[in-house]
Amino acid sequence: MGKVKVIESWLGACAGCEISVLDLHETLLPVLEKIEFAYIPVLMDVKHPPKATVGIVSGGVRNSDNLHELLEIRKNCDILIALGSCACFGGNPGLANLFTTEELLSEVYVTTKSTKNEIGRNPYMDGLPTILPEMRAVGDYVKVDVMIPGCGPNPAMIGAAILSLLGGAPYELSTKSVCDECPREKSERNLKKILRPFEGTVDDKKCLFEQGYLCSGSATRAGCGARCPTAGAACRGCFGPCENSVEQGAAMISAVTSCYGLDDDPNTDLDAMVADIYDPIGNFYKYTLPSSLLNKKAIEKTAAKK
Ligand code: SF4
Ligand code: SF4
Repeated sequence: MGKVKVIESWLGACAGCEISVLDLHETLLPVLEKIEFAYIPVLMDVKHPPKATVGIVSGGVRNSDNLHELLEIRKNCDILIALGSCACFGGNPGLANLFTTEELLSEVYVTTKSTKNEIGRNPYMDGLPTILPEMRAVGDYVKVDVMIPGCGPNPAMIGAAILSLLGGAPYELSTKSVCDECPREKSERNLKKILRPFEGTVDDKKCLFEQGYLCSGSATRAGCGARCPTAGAACRGCFGPCENSVEQGAAMISAVTSCYGLDDDPNTDLDAMVADIYDPIGNFYKYTLPSSLLNKKAIEKTAAKK
C-alpha cells in the first residue's frame, strides 16, 4: 500500500503547531513511513493543495486568504484535522474580537510607540487579503472531523491521532479534566485572595487554585498530562472546555465564585472578589472567546461602536 497523502496549512497562526509536529522527534519516523506530505507551505514550495486523504489546518480564520485556504483544503481532503487551540476554538488571537477592525488596525499599524507611520497608512489599504470582522474557529466555516487542541498541541496526541486514523480507528479526546491528571494535592477550596502569577511563593505540592492562583484545570479538557501545573504554573486552559461544557469561561467563573464562598455566604464582598481578578476575559476566555457565547456579546459591543 502506498503512503497516505497529507496536506497541511496554517491559517491565522504563529507556527507553534507546526513546531509541535516537529517535536514528535523519533515518533515522527513511524508516522512518516505511512504518510507523505504533498503540501505543507512551512516546509515546501507547492502552490496549491492537491487531493489528499488527510488535511490538517492550524490557526483560526482571520482574513479572506485564511478562508480561501481553508475551503481549498477542506474541498481536497477526506478527513480534516483542526490542529491547535486557534483552529479548534479561535485561540488567543480571538481576544481581538473585543475590538473593532478599525481599532485593531490603528493599534497595530499607526499608534503603537514603536511605529513610525505619519500618513496613517495600513497594509489593508493596499490590495492585500481583507481582514474579516472577527477571528473565527475553523469549525465555524467547514466540517471538522478531528480536533487536536492545545497551544501548542501535545506532540504525542498528534502522532496518536494520525496513526489511529490511518489504522481506521476514530480518535477520541479525553473526557476528563486537567485536574484529573494533575499530581498536586487537593484539599479544600476556600479562596481568600486571588494572586497574579508573580505574587506570593508557590507551594510545590498543593493545588495552585487553592493557593489563590487562577488555574483553569477544573474547566479544561485533559490530554496534556497537566503540563503547566506540574511545572508550577497555572493551567491557562489551552485544551478548551471539558466534554459537554460549552462555555469554559463560565465554568471558571463558577469555580471561582463557589470557592470564594459566594454560594455559602451571601455577605461575601463581591466587589472585592471581582477587583481581585486582573483581566477576567483574558484569564477565563484566553483561548475560547470566538467559540463562546460571550463572543456574540463582544461582537454586538464592537458593532455598536461603529
Ligand atoms: S486547579 Fe490546577 S493545580 Fe489544582 S488540581 Fe486542578 S490543575 Fe492541578
Ligand atoms: S496545563 Fe492547561 S495550559 Fe498547560 S498545556 Fe495543559 S491545558 Fe494547556
